[in-house]
Amino acid sequence: MTSFTFFENSSLAPHCSMKAGGNAKYICIPSSIGELSAVIAYMRDKNEKLIVLGNASNILFSDEGFDGAVIFTSKINDINTDGCIVTAACGAALSSVAVFAAKHSLSGLEFAYGIPGTVGGGVFMNAGAYCGELCDCFKEAVCLTPDLREIVLTKEDMSFSYRKSVLSDNGYILLKAAFELKKGNYDEIKTKMDTCICLRKEKQPLEYPSCGSTFKRPVGNYAGALIEQCGLKGSSIGGAAVSEKHAGFIINKDNATANDIIKLIDYVSELVYEKTGVRLEPEVRIIREK
Ligand SMILES: Cc1cc2nc3c(=O)[nH]c(=O)nc-3n(C[C@H](O)[C@H](O)[C@H](O)COP(=O)(O)OP(=O)(O)OC[C@H]3O[C@@H](n4cnc5c(N)ncnc54)[C@H](O)[C@@H]3O)c2cc1C
Repeated sequence: MTSFTFFENSSLAPHCSMKAGGNAKYICIPSSIGELSAVIAYMRDKNEKLIVLGNASNILFSDEGFDGAVIFTSKINDINTDGCIVTAACGAALSSVAVFAAKHSLSGLEFAYGIPGTVGGGVFMNAGAYCGELCDCFKEAVCLTPDLREIVLTKEDMSFSYRKSVLSDNGYILLKAAFELKKGNYDEIKTKMDTCICLRKEKQPLEYPSCGSTFKRPVGNYAGALIEQCGLKGSSIGGAAVSEKHAGFIINKDNATANDIIKLIDYVSELVYEKTGVRLEPEVRIIREK
């Protein structure tokens, strides 16, 4: 049994997969959907800015930090099944949901094994890998509206597109989501998951802190290939570097500040645009304002 955790004026860096960023006025880690709703209501009532995060594996706060409440859902992680439907709370790790599905011989989430995010963060940005995306098996989600009503959003309501859902526009907080999977063969599911992990270990600089792919895939191209083509592999600013292993990843190589990382993202984006005419759009969400 875990319980609500709360820190005041505390560093965000240890909580974020980039291991960079300043302090938050409040860090809250509720352990149930009830606590999550209550802390959101409390902070709204106090007129505090707030942001709800899962594992912070796709977010970068500036060194100035965040003058409000950062609420992490990672302790809200129940997973259940009813036939071919798997329902997971917002903070359940995508890898845990994939393992749970596999144990029930349910296929459809193998691609998500190894994505270091949660269900909330994953649905928010329609996480995907190796030809799969969460929208493929998403059925519905219970969300909290800005005026604190619980509503159910269907797949149509979510307006999924590449690395995007309606949640990035409407400010709804996902509380739990249901995925519709297919009965499969455990060994085949497990083999697919193992292949995903092997590919990640082989291709990605997992030994360094990062936010995964820094940029979205431009239409008809690959961000990593363009960055490499522009001779930017290994480029660095302060402790931030373009990974030698995978140019699509900007890594925290040596105690980078968030501002080193942001400067490098901006530099890479500008240089690629200058040399190729392709404008790279960050996949990582950058919170520049305090
Ligand atoms: C090594 C590495 C590999 C990666 N590989 C992949 C990959 O293959 N494919 C891929 O798509 N991504 C990948 N990522 C990026 C990241 O893991 C995914 O985007 C993941 O889905 C983010 O989930 P999160 O819980 O960490 O979200 P966070 O980073 O915590 O949040 C991301 C956004 O989602 C919002 N959010 C979070 N929870 C909720 C909620 N409950 N309700 C509403 N909004 C919410 C936040 O406000 C924020 O705007 C990788 C990252 C790393 C570090």
